[in-house]
Amino acid sequence: MKTVLVNVVTPDGPVYDADVEMVSVKAHSGELGILPGHIPMVAPLEIGAVRLKQGSGTELVAVSGGFIEVRPDKVTILAQTAEKSESIDVTRAQAAKKRAEERLNQKTDEIDFKRAELALRRAINRLDVTK
Ligand code: ATP
Repeated sequence: MKTVLVNVVTPDGPVYDADVEMVSVKAHSGELGILPGHIPMVAPLEIGAVRLKQGSGTELVAVSGGFIEVRPDKVTILAQTAEKSESIDVTRAQAAKKRAEERLNQKTDEIDFKRAELALRRAINRLDVTK
């Protein structure tokens, strides 16, 4: 079975480093499925899940945007934050979601609104990844 090495890296350090059969990400342009031997490419990512297929299992990592760099034998994902599903604190994400929703319901200026919207999307993404 052909594999590609995937590294997920954040400013706090590496989060994932393994050989996988397929990696899927949510790029600005849509969902991208990358197999070993893919042509070189760089693409910006949305807040979303990275899906890593190994054998019969698929592991999920929540990322808050960033970039994917693809080479035939190696994929690097650089993100401001990234968490494997098992290291996500569900209670914390639920609290962050609630806070963001409350802020969105208040009369805030546009900058605060955008920030709350992004915080809400990060929280929902983390919760989705734990499901
Ligand atoms: P919060 O308001 O709970 O801090 P946030 O979306 O503002 O959420 P970030 O700024 O995206 O948090 O992340 C800050 C750091 O905390 C990062 O290292 C990120 O991986 C980690 N982190 C954030 N939320 C969670 C969570 N629910 N479970 C585990 N780690 C988390």
